[in-house]
Amino acid sequence: MAAPAPASDAPDPSVAALIAARPQLSMHAHDGLLLEGVPLARIAGVLGTPAWVYSAGTMRARLAELKAALHGMDTQVHYAVKANDHLAVLRLFAAGGAGADVVSEGELRRARHAGIAPEHIVFSGVGKSVRELRLALAEDIAQINVESAEELEMLSAVAAGMGRIARVALRINPDVDAGTHAKITTGRAENKFGIPYAEAVELYARAASLPGIRPVGLALHIGSQILSVAPYRAAYTRAAELVHALRARGLEVSRLDCGGGLGIGYGDEPGAPVAAFAGVMRAVLGNLGVTLMLEPGRWLVGPAGVLLASVVLVKGHGRFVVLDAAMNDLVRPAMYDAWHGIVPVAAADLHGPAASVDVVGPVCESSDTFARNRALPALRAGATVAILDAGAYSAVMSSTYNARTLAPIAMVDGADWSVIRDRQVYEELWAGERIPPFLA
Ligand SMILES: *Cc1c(COP(=O)(O)O)cnc(C)c1O
Repeated sequence: MAAPAPASDAPDPSVAALIAARPQLSMHAHDGLLLEGVPLARIAGVLGTPAWVYSAGTMRARLAELKAALHGMDTQVHYAVKANDHLAVLRLFAAGGAGADVVSEGELRRARHAGIAPEHIVFSGVGKSVRELRLALAEDIAQINVESAEELEMLSAVAAGMGRIARVALRINPDVDAGTHAKITTGRAENKFGIPYAEAVELYARAASLPGIRPVGLALHIGSQILSVAPYRAAYTRAAELVHALRARGLEVSRLDCGGGLGIGYGDEPGAPVAAFAGVMRAVLGNLGVTLMLEPGRWLVGPAGVLLASVVLVKGHGRFVVLDAAMNDLVRPAMYDAWHGIVPVAAADLHGPAASVDVVGPVCESSDTFARNRALPALRAGATVAILDAGAYSAVMSSTYNARTLAPIAMVDGADWSVIRDRQVYEELWAGERIPPFLA
């Protein structure tokens, strides 16, 4: 999901500024770029490129920072699995006391496989199938966030048929503008998400009357990569009004799921101000007497990942730096015009004369471009670079377009590192395919 590019008149942050803004990164004269205590050149040497590397310490520290900001409030953090669904990532967050927010059967299965208990799982999403609802009910997960009147009726029928009661939060659409990229704003009336604000009270009352349904509260999620607290204040204020309106009707409300959306700095700017965000929660929602649930994804994992890539060649009189990573690995620049920092991994590569280059991948699409007119030290074929902030909505969105295999993933923790996913082998690309008899 998107990072707006820095204002086009602002110069790109320098490589030094990018590193300085990220405590998990450091540049050493001999070992080059380090993620925590591990030289990234060492991992590239073992795994080859492209390869993803995640920092366990960064994920852990960010969850701890968020929880510290929320202290004293009755809160539960459910990590949004879609941002990065690797089992090791889920295990790490579970160990830190987070549950999971899932949006599909696959994510629910992943969360369970990683050892997350059903009572710590919430199911969101605008189009859950009957099969998915059945699984959620069979597992008796904590909560299903229902996004429409139609889904509510469907869930009631499924639950009643199974002799189960679904704990339901109604996802309301507060009709506020999160001020983020159009492709990742979700809280406007014209977006497909949630139940229109004006219909929420009636639908909640209907939910309370349905067999198989126990309404427990409201949910909202206004978008992603949100950098200011103002849209949260507006959305939470509307949600609090609804809680009062529901209680005035004699309806019980015990939970408010505040969604995710906290943004990160993709350049050298700060990310969402988490302490101020928690302050808004406290001020607007702190006295409602509900459990406040959060579903952060990007903020927890985005800064923790890098994509390592090597320069295949430089063409066009130095204009195009062609990497061995491509849009099939990291699609965010092509899909959301996202801006990602790019940093040479070898210290020696920092000192070449700076040039303005386009950093591209080898895939046959013009949108296979990681950066345009980027000031970078001159890079030669074989040089390795790290594409920064590739922990969220990155490896999870990879494809095998151009019959390119999925890249391996390593995780570092202090001075330790481990491979957490092997590079896909070519045979896996066609393993499920069949030549039909009429072509045999
Ligand atoms: C995607 C999503 C999230 C996580 O969003 P981030 O911007 O990654 O924090 C949380 N809740 C819901 C319902 C989502 O769809």
